[in-house]
Amino acid sequence: MTVTAAPRFTCPPEVQAAAREHLRALLRLDTTNPPGNEGPAVDLLADVLRQGGLEPEVLVSPQGRPNLVARLAGTGARPPLLLGAHLDVVEADPARWTHPPFDAVEADGCLWGRGAIDMKNMAAMAAAILVGFKAAGLQPARDIIFAAVADEEAGCTEGSAFLVERHPDKVRAEFALGEGGGFTVHFGGRRFYPLMTAEKGLCWVRVVAEGQPGHGSMPLERSAVQKLARAVDRLASVRLPAHSGPASAFVRALAEHAPLPAALVLRLLLNPSMRDLVLDRLFPDPALARPFAAVLANTVSPTVLRAGGKTNVIPGRAEAELDGRTLPGQTTADLLRELEAVAGPDVRFEVISAAPPVETSPDTDLFRHLCATIRRHDPEGIPIPYLCPGFTDAKSWSRLGARCYGFLPLRLPPEVRYADLFHGDDERIPLDGLDWGTRVLWDALLGA
Ligand SMILES: [Zn+2]
Repeated sequence: MTVTAAPRFTCPPEVQAAAREHLRALLRLDTTNPPGNEGPAVDLLADVLRQGGLEPEVLVSPQGRPNLVARLAGTGARPPLLLGAHLDVVEADPARWTHPPFDAVEADGCLWGRGAIDMKNMAAMAAAILVGFKAAGLQPARDIIFAAVADEEAGCTEGSAFLVERHPDKVRAEFALGEGGGFTVHFGGRRFYPLMTAEKGLCWVRVVAEGQPGHGSMPLERSAVQKLARAVDRLASVRLPAHSGPASAFVRALAEHAPLPAALVLRLLLNPSMRDLVLDRLFPDPALARPFAAVLANTVSPTVLRAGGKTNVIPGRAEAELDGRTLPGQTTADLLRELEAVAGPDVRFEVISAAPPVETSPDTDLFRHLCATIRRHDPEGIPIPYLCPGFTDAKSWSRLGARCYGFLPLRLPPEVRYADLFHGDDERIPLDGLDWGTRVLWDALLGA
């Protein structure tokens, strides 16, 4: 039986229950990266899909990390869509958690565990939905490619990057959906749903200072350590120039729907000459100013310092590493120019590694469909395009031409803040929010 997409085939309760069940099982598997150990999670998903009549493939990276790819055939009316979920998680210190991070405890209406929102929930929903489509004989217009990958938290090398480089035909798609959007953000009494349309580029940089070495008993005025310390201090305390770009669309959309005075403050933020004043003086919550600052400019954070080896020897060389991030429309060379202007002539910069930003226009039928699907399930919800300051598997999928959006639907109440849970202690997912997400993703895929 072939049925075209229509919202009347709503997500059955048993599919929502299956997503809960898969998530519970996945959360009990410790996939902290490093080392990742994604094998048992891949096996679990492969079993679920195989029992549901799909034919998952497990593709193992050169370092032995398994990745799962499964394809549900669509009618072929439109090109394929890839649904990506990384199975690895960041570390969790059990001493800081209310419930153990790998026990999948159910309490206070939530399922607790590392990966509950980042992003085993996507893997659980995707597996349940693909099996649900198969059981109901539903065929979306697009092939749905489900990729459950390793190693995202350590840079994607053994996961999405491996699939893109070694198995491009298995993961090539017109669009890719992944993390970085679709969750509720409560702001100014409204419910927003940021959907990632762009993510910043990465540019890791080494700063090097050199100077005369000498004995520590006779201080030198301009040693390598002093030059480096001054440059790092300047780089860390200055905001790099503001640039308009995808973040402007996000801030403008937020301003459009926010109540006064937040709407006015947000509009001021779009004026580059007002940015610092707004962020430093007008933002009521400094914790909120930080993510806005990160999407309005290129940024660097000093993360590694290296100099000297003996207390009584003034070293001739000192170096620091900076985690740099570039806005869409900005290049590595642009960032280096900005850094040189701030740091002065006493240091030089070397690029350690770089990956360009990713940007997809929100002006597509698919993006409008995703927004409409969210609004259908939360009539007061306001979907808005969003620039992610971080890094996702979209970096890899986009290399094959996929247009990437962050769409991992999750309904959250005001007291559960996504930003606190993401890589934070007590990561958890409200079970009714997970069910909501499963229903939204079902409709989104069926009508894509
Ligand atoms: Zn993630």
